[in-house]
Amino acid sequence: MEIEPELPAIVEGGVKGSRGTVRESSIYPSLPTTPCFLDILLLRLTMMLALTLLPWRCFVIRFVSFVVVGWMAVVSVSAQQLSNPKHVDSADKFHTIQSWLPTPGVYRTASGAPGPMYWQQRADYDIDVTLDAEQRSLTGNCRITYHNHSPHTLSYVWVQLDQNRFRTDSAAIMSRTAPSLTGRSPFSSIQTLLTEQTFDGGYKLDSVTQGAPDQEQGDPAPHLIVDTMMRIDLSEPLEPGESTTFGIGYHYNIVDAKLIRARGGYEHFEEDGNDIFEIAQWYPRMTAYTDYTGWQHNQFLGSGEFTLELGDYHVDITAPADMVVAATGTLSNPQEVLKEEWVERLSKIAGKKKPSFIITPEEAKENESKESDESDDGETKTWSFAAENVRDFAWAASRKFIWDAMAVKVGDRSVMAMSYYPNEAEPLWSQYSTESIALTLEVYGRYTFDYPYDVAISVNGPVYGMEYPMICFNGPRPDDDGTYSKATKYGLISVIIHEVGHNFFPMIVNSDERQWTWMDEGLNTFLQYLAEQEWEEDYPSGRGPAEKIVPYMRGGNQRPIMTGSDQILQFGNNAYGKPATALNILRETVLGRERFDFAFREYARRWKFKRPTPADFFRSMEDAAGTNLDWFWRGWFYSTDHVDIAIDSVELFVIDNGDPDDEFERKRRKEETEEITLDEERNRELRRRIDWQPGLKDFYNAPDYDEDKVEESDRKAYQKHLESLDEEQRALLRRTTKFYVVKFVNEGGLVMPIPLRIHYADNTQEHVVLPPEIWRRNSKEVKKLFLTEKEIVRLEIDPRKEIADTDKSNNHWPPKLEPTRFDLYKRKKGDSNPMRKAVEAAKKAEKDADQEDDKDADEDADKDADEEASESSDADEQQDGKEKSPKESKKADPKSEDAPKSKGKSAGQQEDSKKDAKKSGKPPASKEDDQ
Ligand SMILES: [Zn+2]
Repeated sequence: MEIEPELPAIVEGGVKGSRGTVRESSIYPSLPTTPCFLDILLLRLTMMLALTLLPWRCFVIRFVSFVVVGWMAVVSVSAQQLSNPKHVDSADKFHTIQSWLPTPGVYRTASGAPGPMYWQQRADYDIDVTLDAEQRSLTGNCRITYHNHSPHTLSYVWVQLDQNRFRTDSAAIMSRTAPSLTGRSPFSSIQTLLTEQTFDGGYKLDSVTQGAPDQEQGDPAPHLIVDTMMRIDLSEPLEPGESTTFGIGYHYNIVDAKLIRARGGYEHFEEDGNDIFEIAQWYPRMTAYTDYTGWQHNQFLGSGEFTLELGDYHVDITAPADMVVAATGTLSNPQEVLKEEWVERLSKIAGKKKPSFIITPEEAKENESKESDESDDGETKTWSFAAENVRDFAWAASRKFIWDAMAVKVGDRSVMAMSYYPNEAEPLWSQYSTESIALTLEVYGRYTFDYPYDVAISVNGPVYGMEYPMICFNGPRPDDDGTYSKATKYGLISVIIHEVGHNFFPMIVNSDERQWTWMDEGLNTFLQYLAEQEWEEDYPSGRGPAEKIVPYMRGGNQRPIMTGSDQILQFGNNAYGKPATALNILRETVLGRERFDFAFREYARRWKFKRPTPADFFRSMEDAAGTNLDWFWRGWFYSTDHVDIAIDSVELFVIDNGDPDDEFERKRRKEETEEITLDEERNRELRRRIDWQPGLKDFYNAPDYDEDKVEESDRKAYQKHLESLDEEQRALLRRTTKFYVVKFVNEGGLVMPIPLRIHYADNTQEHVVLPPEIWRRNSKEVKKLFLTEKEIVRLEIDPRKEIADTDKSNNHWPPKLEPTRFDLYKRKKGDSNPMRKAVEAAKKAEKDADQEDDKDADEDADKDADEEASESSDADEQQDGKEKSPKESKKADPKSEDAPKSKGKSAGQQEDSKKDAKKSGKPPASKEDDQ
């Protein structure tokens, strides 16, 4: 029911104090004098508070407000007090975001589903590629058949040449800002910087042709390379519904992925002389052409990933004959490339409940150590793979691979979960990799749709974490001696869940990564959290729970989630952590699991193998959940507001029954309990004039005069009043219900539901959640009435930490003091006193003149400095996401075993620290991007 604006009008008359109680006032215009009924009383609180001020003779109920329990100092003037009558909170946090979203139409509907004329382009690939393992280069021939499903005639197309990012003159490298060079830099950082300046990277194109799809060899096609993209001018316009074929011959040098941050590359193993190749962005890929942006013309600068068309792939990979190749798709010629025993073992996988080896650790060891005759001879094998309806293709090759596999049931199909890793990854990988894949397929499938492909592969190599259709690259390994920290173990499980999970977002729900990172990373990190929690109880998830995002939300240097990928600040928190947390809150607190899960699944199914935009996500969620969530998207995705809701004051009102004797008694009690003022007390000593000067006392000075005394006439009037009421009204007067008015203040700006725990004097408690719409007319402060027969003794906002409230100190009434602990320590003598050191050193030198002891003091000083520096540089390294050698990480993280929560850094965290490092311009050393 609407609340009428009576109160402000009355308040302007000077009735209401800023944060105090309602005071008596004589300004009472012609208010209605109709009898009140309970429903009116409950629903029209503000009006009733105004009526409080009326004498009972007006036949209404009066309230006595006798406790004012606001605890905060008056820090601001309330809206009602301003002389300008306009509402001070002009920002409408519930204003529809429809005007920010693209107009729905035939391609994308207002409900968030693909429209009746939805279209997307298609690109099928036929690629022959040869790996030169000696030279660490690739030579390829790529035939792309491009289908124009758009209603537009195209006179040119754009192709992505992502390897060009590694050219020394690429926009990515030239636009990188200077790293911090002060202090200590790891060798690897400087090596990275130098390598980037000299590496002969980027595509070398041997030929670019165009022809009809059935034409074996097309004609040379005019083309122009613009950084990481190439425009091919078509010989004649490509009409809607037509197809054409491009042929591109190329070669390029593979990056050292341990040195240059990349999403693929090689890793060299000094001890046995072998490499692991993880090959990605390795062929010219069609740029996406869409209904909402035409050609996706954002260049590849490093952060914004890939916007790709779906299609079918036939890929022939020629590699040294003794290498094992893993790839997107299914292997078409196992008999030609696999050993007989491997084929045999593969055929026995079905029905086994645990992963089993196809290539055992011993066989891998043997393969990597023997001086292979085959490779000496330059003998090669060609592995043929086929993949349908994928947006990309990646592969890996090495002599070092152990290979295990397990069949995972998905619906009525069986998916092969497989892992490839060197002996260096053991024993961690055979225990956890394939099991993590299986968990991911099960959990993600439940929240979205059944995993549609036949294989799901995890490969260990130089790339910390990167996803491709059916295959992903994951980096964590145990230490050299085979032991590992808790962080490494859970880091591995998390990164595999995350990267396998990317099959769903964005490999199948094919969002525009180059523009919107959150659409795949955020949704994926959210599901990663759900999957992690199904691995084991108290899994140390780094992202997902509301509390984990609080430090970021509290901090500065932010941009909204709805920020283009390459302009994002604090990449991981912005695009992984915040959207994942927002969705978790939407699920747990705003919509509830049932409605959220239905809507989320609906979105995933609608856009499976299609390309959604943010609007399609927002609209689908609202449409399927049956709730307007514009306030939510506005707050969490379009703003940098944070959640901080405070209890400002609590007022208690009770019904005044109007009985004059009761009122007298109340006054008497108040006088009795009220402390005498200081001047009253001191004035007691005064000799008063009427006491010594006769004739000054009169009626009013008589001892039996009491101005508050109840007269018989008062009682009669009251009785008369009671008789005029009906039974229901009289019962209402007898009620002892307490009317608590709690004022909430929104300090953070983000409007949210208010989860509130109410503690009563009888030791019971109640949990209520006030819906976010409570803020719809005033997003800065609201009052809520709680009616109860019991006494409220304590209130707490967000006791179960579900809304990411950044300041808990104002969440309690009465205020709760949380002690902050501080350490006491003894300052080490001479820590930063080089003069004392010099004096001591001189003394020592004098004493042991024979020896060169005077160096010791300096050495001590250096050692101290080193320890300090090593601590801070370790912290920096973690921040930068640089991969440490196993030895380094052992040294770096001595406390970690004792502090498992802080240690179990999630894959997402590591990813984003890497990306953040990139954004901050710090040389990434050996860690590649993970996304
Ligand atoms: Zn990711």
